[in-house]
Amino acid sequence: MTAFIEAASPHTMNTYARLPIAMERGQGVRVWDVNGKSYLDGLGGIAVNTLGHNHPKLVPALQDQIAKIIHSSNYYHVPNAEVLAKKLTELAHMTNVFFCSTGLEANEAALKLARKFGHDKGISNPQIVVYEKAFHGRSIATLSATGNPKVQKGFEPLVEGFIRVPLNDIDALKKATEGNPNVVAVFFETIQGEGGINPARIDYLKQVRALCDEKDWLLMIDEVQCGMGRTGKWFAHQWADIVPDVMPLAKGLGSGVPIGAVVAGPKAANIFQPGNHGTTFGGNPLAMRAGVETIRIMEEEGLLANADKVGKHLHAALEKALAGNPGVKEVRGQGLMIGIELAKPCGAIVQRAADAGLLLSVTADSVIRLVPPLILSTAEADEIVAILVPIIEAFLKE
Ligand SMILES: *Cc1c(COP(=O)(O)O)cnc(C)c1O
Repeated sequence: MTAFIEAASPHTMNTYARLPIAMERGQGVRVWDVNGKSYLDGLGGIAVNTLGHNHPKLVPALQDQIAKIIHSSNYYHVPNAEVLAKKLTELAHMTNVFFCSTGLEANEAALKLARKFGHDKGISNPQIVVYEKAFHGRSIATLSATGNPKVQKGFEPLVEGFIRVPLNDIDALKKATEGNPNVVAVFFETIQGEGGINPARIDYLKQVRALCDEKDWLLMIDEVQCGMGRTGKWFAHQWADIVPDVMPLAKGLGSGVPIGAVVAGPKAANIFQPGNHGTTFGGNPLAMRAGVETIRIMEEEGLLANADKVGKHLHAALEKALAGNPGVKEVRGQGLMIGIELAKPCGAIVQRAADAGLLLSVTADSVIRLVPPLILSTAEADEIVAILVPIIEAFLKE
């Protein structure tokens, strides 16, 4: 069976360095592969499976929707799109939503919004501030906005119109934009995910909000990974008590059903006019039902509070168990978005953890990333620690 998995992809493109594992089913925070081996899911499909697997409320709702209608097209209204948009704007304190199907698509829409915001003001060469170590997706525009040369290499020429600065340095931002009348927006993740779980500081978030107000720039915050309750608030920037003008969402919004959204405040809500932007799959009945039910179940089950509580527990337990180990640089993040930075590249830990029955990933070469479903219990968090800590300790001794 294992040999079958290793040789199983001669017809799919070689885009992922996959582990020789294929999942068959899941239940809660556990999944089973085709050989019957079980894993604790510390990855949640990369911050996607908000409600874990086979959720007893989500599955019947999606079955009901599939039996009614999966897709109808944007020629017609989708009632649940309005329900979900209303809910998202209430949670975000913003006003309007555009639906799409993935994170890069949400970011692509945000970049188009920023450029048209500029053109509408008479700026014909709009510039958008982006960040070192940022990740915004794999389309030509979003990989150009991404701050990782590995993502860009081989796909040049990059899209123009970006100014790059380091995170958490307000002086660098001011200096890079000084006297530039073409700046239209500042675009970043509240907590950089692929870049290694790097949080923007609260004071920095407030300073950038104030600068964007002063200069009439759009504040665009990519909450594709850190949003949807993962940090213990609906959106991670809410820890700083600010409201962005544009907020792309995706990953956790549909609990596994592909969905993306761009939430806009008053400054950005009316930039797109009919014909400016669109997508075939975006906002379809299945995705909208998944979004509506995901948020409803999150509220019913108190998953924000759970992410906060269990996240703190997991964070503290990891810190305690790894304290004093010189090979561990830092445990960081918020809620159930946790990075453990080691002093050396640690990609090998992914397979070792899987062998020991734990799913996780490594980002930025040396940061172990945990983004489990938000239903994780403290007992399951303890289980993660019990499996992971000995693996880290052994790895660091090599
Ligand atoms: C994953 C991710 C994206 C890209 O989302 P896709 O659905 O893979 O296109 C964009 N921004 C952030 C912050 C992400 O984590």
